[in-house]
Order: sequence, then C-alpha cells, then structure tokens
Amino acid sequence: MMLLSAGLSYINLVLNGRPTVALAEAAMSVFSASLYLLLLKQKQIPTPVKLLYLICLTAVIEYVLFVAKNRVGMSHWLITLPIIFYLTLGKRWGFVLSLFLLAGHVVLLSAIQIETGGALSKADFVNFSFSFVVIWIVSHTYESQRMSIENKLNKLAYEDALTGAQNRLALKHRFSQLSQPDQPRAYLAILDVDHFKRINDTHGHDIGDQVLINLTQKLQHHYGVTNVFRLGGEEFCMLLNCSSLESATTLCDQVRQKIQAVPLVNDEVLVSITVSIGVCELKQGFSLNQGLKVADTLLYDAKALGRNQVLAA
Ligand code: GH3
Ligand code: MG
Ligand code: MG
Repeated sequence: MMLLSAGLSYINLVLNGRPTVALAEAAMSVFSASLYLLLLKQKQIPTPVKLLYLICLTAVIEYVLFVAKNRVGMSHWLITLPIIFYLTLGKRWGFVLSLFLLAGHVVLLSAIQIETGGALSKADFVNFSFSFVVIWIVSHTYESQRMSIENKLNKLAYEDALTGAQNRLALKHRFSQLSQPDQPRAYLAILDVDHFKRINDTHGHDIGDQVLINLTQKLQHHYGVTNVFRLGGEEFCMLLNCSSLESATTLCDQVRQKIQAVPLVNDEVLVSITVSIGVCELKQGFSLNQGLKVADTLLYDAKALGRNQVLAA
C-alpha cells in the first residue's frame, strides 16, 4: 500500500495535475509506511489503529472517485476493500465496514449523479453493486470458515483429548503470559491421584478414564476451567491467583478434602479416590520447569509421607 499510494500520488501530481488527490495519496503512503515500521517493532498493530487505517484508505478512494466523478474506473478499487477489511480485522468489523462502504458509496454516487445531471450509467451502478456483494459474500464465507478451522486447530493443539482439560502446551502458553512483570503473584500446584493403578486394576481402564474425566470437572469447578492443565496420566497442574502461599495451600487442602469426601460416580460404580498435592510460589524469574520441579518434589514428599495430603513451600 505504501508503494502503490506513492506511485499513484506521483502520477496524479506530475501527469494528471491533481495536487489534492496526490496529497491524499501521499498521506496514505506515509500512514502505510508508519504502520509497516510499527509492525516491525511490535508484532501486533492495535485494532483501533487498523480501523483508522482502513477508514482513511476508504475515504481516500471515495475522495478520488468523487473528484474524478467516477469516470476512471475508481469503483474497481472499492471491490477490493471487503477482502482487505475481512483479512485485516476479521468477520465482525469486516461485515460492519463493508456494509458502511456500500451504503456510503450509494450516497456518493447519488450525489455525483445529481451534480452531473444524471451522467452516470445505471448499468455501471448495478454491475458495481452486484460484484461488490459477491466479493463481500465470498470474503465473509472465507473468514467464517478460517475462524472455525482456527478454533478447531487451537482446540486440538491446546486440549487434552480424554478429559477436555488444557494440556502442557496450553500451560506453557499461559505461563509465558504470567511471566510479564505487571502480572500479580501466582502459585502452582501439582496434583496426582493416589494409587490410581489400583483403580485401573480393580475396575478396568474405562472406569479409570471416567474417573479422570470426573476429576477434571471437579478441578475445573474449584480452580476455574482456564487454570487446570493435565500434565499426563493422572497428574494435573493448577495455576492459582491467590494472595499468599497460605491461602493457596488452604484452597488446595479444601479441594483435596472434597475429592476424598465425594466419590466419583459412574453409571455402574462409585469410585472413591484421594489425591496428593504439592504447592509452590512462582517466584519472579522462575521458569515453568523450575516451578514444576519444586511442586513435583513436594508432591513426591507428600506421597512418601503417606499420600492424601498437601505440602507447600
Ligand atoms: P501413586 O499413589 O504413587 O501415584 O500410585 P499410582 O498407582 O497412582 O501411580 P503409578 O504411576 O504407579 O500409576 C499410574 C497409572 O495411571 C498407570 C497408568 O496405567 C495409569 N494411567 C495413565 N494414564 C491413564 C489414562 O489416560 N487412563 C487410565 N485409565 N489410566 C491411565
Ligand atoms: Mg498416582
Ligand atoms: Mg502419577
């Protein structure tokens, strides 16, 4: 856009003698260049800035179209805009901007028609509207499908297939957000089901699976869906936004007691389980592996001390 606007600006200034149009296009070129530099510096451009850019782009095209009285095929450029809207801002803003553009353009063409005493061809207008709507529908459908595929891929990448809890990759991703300096203190807990092998041996693997699913639901209920991660097997990790290590430990002990008190129900059997938990503070500068290692050592100690307990440090 930076190069295109600069080229068009040159043509309009030198060849067409339209300084105002050239100025608008030059401004667009500078705006594009600054966004490009911003993108190089920080990976994301804020949505309001993107929105402003697209509105300016549309305004420049409509302005040139008005100045040229729609004679030089300027509406062809407008047909590209729904694609740019949807690619840049997604489905919701893509739809809103396309709708406004079509409505605004109809108003603008009517103004030109009045000013020129009906010089515009009606067939041109009809052809423009139909092709615009076709491109709009295609962009909308494409973006809807892309979003749905992205959601499915995210689910596959971040969710454990058996329990629906988040997986290790999701934990890594979440931890990278937690490590930002402005985030509040956080605590990490690792929970392991006691003698889970016995449940599999006694009731079968399917019931074992069911126990893991029911346990996940309980953990998600107590800690919040976004804070529970299955590390593998019958081992879970929880991130806690507590104010102190004491309150994190108390919360984990309450959960431990509730798990012990209420058997996990299946259509066929009731299975009582107990869990052991290790809790630690995620100190500033701690890596995820360091946090997991400390909590895992505490969990190991809790097992050694007889299981069904919470240890914190
Ligand atoms: P401890 O109290 O020391 O933790 O004993 P444990 O029996 O829970 O630990 P161990 O590591 O010996 O056994 C874990 C068992 O968990 C072994 C494995 O077959 C079972 N397991 C791992 N993943 C799954 C799963 O997805 N479904 C089922 N049903 N069992 C699983
Ligand atoms: Mg176990
Ligand atoms: Mg285990």
